[in-house]
Amino acid sequence: MKLIFVTGGVVSSLGKGIVTASLASLLRSRGIKLKIRKLDPYLNVDPGTMSPYQHGEVYVTDDGYETDLDLGHYERFTDIKCSKNDSISSGKIYSTILSKERKGEYLGSTVQVIPHVTEEIKNSIKKSTNKDDVIICEIGGTVGDIESLPFLEAIRQFKNERQLDTLLIHLTLLPYIETSGEIKTKPTQHSVKELLNAGIQPDIIVCRSNKKIKYEEIQKISLFCNVATNAVIPSYDVGSIYQVPSLLSKSKLDDLVIKNLNIKSTKKKDLSKWTNFEVLESRAKEELNIFIIGKYVHLKDSYKSLYEAIYHAGVHNKVNVKIKWIDSETINKKNVDELLIKAAGILIPGGFGNRGISGKIEAIKYARENQIPFLGICLGMQLSIIEFTKNVLKMKNSGSSEFGKHTNNVISLMTEWSKKNQKVTRTKENDLGATMRLGSYPCYIKHKSLASKIYKKKLIHERHRHRYEVNPKYRSSIEKKGLVFSGFSKDKKLLEIIENKNHKWFLGVQFHPELKSKPFKPHPIFFSFIKNSLMNKNA
Ligand code: GLN
Repeated sequence: MKLIFVTGGVVSSLGKGIVTASLASLLRSRGIKLKIRKLDPYLNVDPGTMSPYQHGEVYVTDDGYETDLDLGHYERFTDIKCSKNDSISSGKIYSTILSKERKGEYLGSTVQVIPHVTEEIKNSIKKSTNKDDVIICEIGGTVGDIESLPFLEAIRQFKNERQLDTLLIHLTLLPYIETSGEIKTKPTQHSVKELLNAGIQPDIIVCRSNKKIKYEEIQKISLFCNVATNAVIPSYDVGSIYQVPSLLSKSKLDDLVIKNLNIKSTKKKDLSKWTNFEVLESRAKEELNIFIIGKYVHLKDSYKSLYEAIYHAGVHNKVNVKIKWIDSETINKKNVDELLIKAAGILIPGGFGNRGISGKIEAIKYARENQIPFLGICLGMQLSIIEFTKNVLKMKNSGSSEFGKHTNNVISLMTEWSKKNQKVTRTKENDLGATMRLGSYPCYIKHKSLASKIYKKKLIHERHRHRYEVNPKYRSSIEKKGLVFSGFSKDKKLLEIIENKNHKWFLGVQFHPELKSKPFKPHPIFFSFIKNSLMNKNA
C-alpha cells in the first residue's frame, strides 16, 4: 500500500481538493487502483450538522454518509465512488475513542493523543484497503492550525514506518507583489518550516501562482525547502477547474509521484477525456440565464455540486450558463415578475427551515404560470407541491410539517403518515445528526413520463438527504389537477418525482441529482433542463 498526503500552507482555499482530485484522475488514467480520503480537523462527527454558510455544501455518498464537499470533487474527477470511510474528521476519531474508552477497551491505560488518537487516525486511513491500493489523503485546513497537529503526527509516524511508501505533497501560494513586480517565496518557506516543526519534510511542493514562476524562484524554493528543483511544481490559475489535470500533467506531477513511490501503472496515461472537455468548454459561448432561488446564495460553496452539475450540462449543450443567484427572502408577490423576467430557466435547490419559503413559492408560481422550465430539488420539489395545492387546488392552509402545523400537511414525516413505515427514527430524542433518509435509493419511473424521456430507464438510483416526504394521502387530488407523480419507491409509497402535465418542462425531484453529475457525463436531468431552458430562451 502506498500513501500520499496532501497538505496546504500559507492560506486556505488554494484548491487542495482540486489538486488531490486531479492527481487521482491522472493516476487512475494509468490504471492505478486508488482511494481518496479527506481528513478534517474539526470536531463535528460529520459535516451534516454544519451550516452550509460555514462549511459549504454537505456532500452525500451512495452509502448515506454526510461528507465534506471535497469528496464531490473526488467523484467528479475520477470514476471512484467514495464511501463513509473516506471522510474522517477529528470528531469521528474522538467519538470512536470515547466510546471505546467507556467500554473499557483500553484496559486501564491512560488514553492520550499519542499513541491513541494517532493510532485511530492511522487505522481510519488504512480501513478497508487492499495491499495494492494507493491511498491519497487530503488534510483539511492549513498547516500551523492547532487542530490539525494529531493528523500531522500520524503522517510523521507513517513516514517513519514506511519511508519508501509514503509521499507528502505540500500546496502553497506564491503571492505576487505588484509594487516590486515579484513573486514571493518566503510564505512557502515559512509554511514548510511549520511542517518541519511537526517532524515532516515534504517531498513535493506544488506552488499556486497567477504569474509565471521563474527558474530562479524554483531554485530558491528548492534550496530553502530542501526539495529537488523538479519537485517544485507550478500550478497556475486556469479558466476552469477541469483544466487542472492537464496542467499538472504538463508539470509532471504524476510522473514524479509514480517515480518516487515506485508505483506500477498498468496503462499508458490517457488525457483525451480532459482535452476533449476543454474543447467543449471553449465552444460554450452562447449565454443562458438560469436563476437559482435559494437561502445560502451568498456563499457559492453552499451549492457546489449544483453549480458544477449546471456547468457540465451547459458545456455539453454548448452554452455558457450565467447563474443568477437570488435570495428567496427578497422575493414577494409584487416584485416576482420583475425579478425573474430574464430567467430562461428557474431552479429551486434543497434547503432546510422556513426562512424565505414564501419567496420560493412565488417563484414557483411564476415558473408554472409562465411556462418557464422549472427544476425543484428536494425542498424545491416539496415547495412546488405546496404551491400547487395552495394556488391550483385552493387547499386551505397547506404546507409542510417542517414549518409548523397546517390543516393540510401535504409534506410531512413518514412517521406522521404511516405507523408501519417508521424508517426514519431518531437515535436519541434530541439527536439531529444522521437522522435523515440518506444515500442512494432506487426509484421506479412511470412509463411515457417526462422523467422516462429524460432517463430512458425504468429504474434509477439517486441520492437523498431529507427528513420529510410527500404525504401520499393527497396524491389523487393533486393528480386530478394535472401534477403527475412519475417516480416512486419500490412499494410505491414514497413519491420521488413530480411533473406538470400542462407545462413544457416542470420537474420536481425528492433526491439530489446534482451529486452524480460528471464533466464527461452530465446528469440527464440537468442536461434536459438546460436544453429546454435554451429552447425557451430562443422561442
Ligand atoms: N428540509 C426538507 C426535508 O428535510 C428538504 C431537505 C433538502 O432539501 N435536502 O425533507
